[in-house]
Amino acid sequence: GALGGPEPGPQHQIRVCVRKRPLNPREAGLQDFDVVTVPCRGVVVVHEARQRLDLSRYLESQTFRFDHAFDESVPNELVYRHTAQPLVESIFRGGMATCFAYGQTGSGKTHTMVGDLSAKGQGCPKGIYTLAAQDVFCWLREPSYEQLELQVYGAFFEIYGGKVYDLLNWRNRLKVLEDGKQQIQVVGLQEEEVSCVEDVMKLIEMGNRCRTSGQTSANTHSSRSHAIFQIILRKRGKLHGKFSLIDLAGNERGADTGSADRRTRLEGAEINKSLLALKECIRALGRNKAHTPFRASKLTQVLRDSFIGENSCTCMIATISPGMRSCEHTLNTLRYANRVK
Ligand code: ADP
Ligand code: MG
Repeated sequence: GALGGPEPGPQHQIRVCVRKRPLNPREAGLQDFDVVTVPCRGVVVVHEARQRLDLSRYLESQTFRFDHAFDESVPNELVYRHTAQPLVESIFRGGMATCFAYGQTGSGKTHTMVGDLSAKGQGCPKGIYTLAAQDVFCWLREPSYEQLELQVYGAFFEIYGGKVYDLLNWRNRLKVLEDGKQQIQVVGLQEEEVSCVEDVMKLIEMGNRCRTSGQTSANTHSSRSHAIFQIILRKRGKLHGKFSLIDLAGNERGADTGSADRRTRLEGAEINKSLLALKECIRALGRNKAHTPFRASKLTQVLRDSFIGENSCTCMIATISPGMRSCEHTLNTLRYANRVK
């Protein structure tokens, strides 16, 4: 295509990529150090060092291979180019595309998907939500797609504790219903028409404010909820194509099932269930299995239309922290990503 994406194949396509973030000053201050290397294209190595000195000896290491692996020097634009960008055109051809960020809290999911909204002005990194929207408006002006007279809408909602809340409508609680034809509907989900990338950025900001308003701790809340931003193409009101971009709950939260606090325990169980269901659904897709276990969680249920279409594609970005202290979580993330393939 004109934007450099590859031609989509006939069956479901899955790409799994890994992104490592830089060691931050806080970690450096705590004497943590980098145990992750990206030696060549698509390869991630985790060195099991207990001291900084061990690293040079490479005593024990685990190697993983993915479609792509990005080291800490790679900016959002480049990550985007190899992950979500190749999927954008597919929604103009009537396809369903999905891109997830999966990883531990603090590993860079929001940085990758949403960008840095707090840093105003020049030089603040755009996230994949915004970068994808930019390309949607480029494709919209391509003569072959312009004649389709498509309208573009944005929707933004979150799943928290197994319940769905509209982020464009004051966290209005939404019902998910399945009709007789097995179509899933998020009843009352607000869709805002957008005509330029600035409109989309306003929606993202509004949704993000809504996501954390009234919450005791913004970070705790976002680590326990899945945020789903959708760019929807409609032709005279009828669904034409859809891109779902998802900032998942922190995967370490799935382990909160042993917590003393009942609410935390239930939320942890819910997160665990949804991330397992997500993995199973993507695996089923990649193997062209007849049965996709989408009913196993709210997350997979609301994504069902993206999981059944023949013309659908998925990309996962597993985000990892570089530090030795995060090693266990990093390995869990890489194993999950490996299983998805
Ligand atoms: P998560 O959403 O997975 O909990 P965040 O995206 O909030 O993690 O990232 C945690 C911190 O690390 C933030 O301050 C963010 O700006 C920073 N960060 C994450 N990824 C990168 C990166 N690739 N480059 C620079 N800073 C990053
Ligand atoms: Mg986050």
